[in-house]
Amino acid sequence: MRHAMQRTVLITGANRGIGLATARALSGAGMRVVLSARRFEDAVRAVDELAREKLVAVASELDLEREASVLECAKELAARRIEVDALVNNGAVLFEGDALTTSSQNFRTAFEVNVLGALWCCRAFVPAMLARGYGRVVNVSSGWGAFAEDLEGPASYSITKAALNALTVSLARSFVGDVKANACCPGWVRTRMGGADAELSPEEGARDVVWLATLASDGPNGGFFRNRERIAW
Ligand code: NAP
Repeated sequence: MRHAMQRTVLITGANRGIGLATARALSGAGMRVVLSARRFEDAVRAVDELAREKLVAVASELDLEREASVLECAKELAARRIEVDALVNNGAVLFEGDALTTSSQNFRTAFEVNVLGALWCCRAFVPAMLARGYGRVVNVSSGWGAFAEDLEGPASYSITKAALNALTVSLARSFVGDVKANACCPGWVRTRMGGADAELSPEEGARDVVWLATLASDGPNGGFFRNRERIAW
């Protein structure tokens, strides 16, 4: 039976890496987790992996590149009476290259997934949060998307993460009630994106994400964090 105060979190790109580590941590902490992935079978595989650890999650298909897929996911969850209290915009792509030479297709995909995908998710799930007066949006960003850190990293990645940061500020400003949007940089994390030499485990990389998804009412809104400390945009 669902506990009266049990919150539900939807995580995008949760089939591996930081997204899966976030799902594991939040499920372990007692939240209801909707583990979404671009391909349904990958979501199911990850849910099965958690089940072997005695953790519960609901598998859902959500392809950030297609707004229709986001809407379909929202419709399906609504039909199952699953209300999303927290949204973790985690799924992302990284393509190497600078602004002048990255292929137009890769640039387009980076914007579709890293920026518009997060926006479609916000539009699908945040209005209900505002109506209920509670919500947490966590945009998994990167220091490479920070002007303050010189927008380092491949151009299509840093530019789209800067845009995700801008979305965070814009959203947060419009929120009322106990609804918050924050961004974080997980650090350099050992995932397919971060590579084998990265310094942090996926679990360590998920720490700020978990914290922001479960923020208390007196927590921040519209901030950018690394290791729970505010960093400059
Ligand atoms: P990862 O292991 O490569 O995972 C990326 C996830 O995004 C995968 O689940 C991938 O799904 C998903 N994704 C890609 N395109 C998608 C789409 N169209 N629809 C839905 N999901 C999609 O990378 P990660 O390191 O865990 O990255 C997680 C987040 O942390 C990202 O936002 C990344 O930018 C950020 N980050 C990572 C690092 C780092 O060092 N690793 C540093 C700073 C920020 P598929 O399996 O289907 O491809």
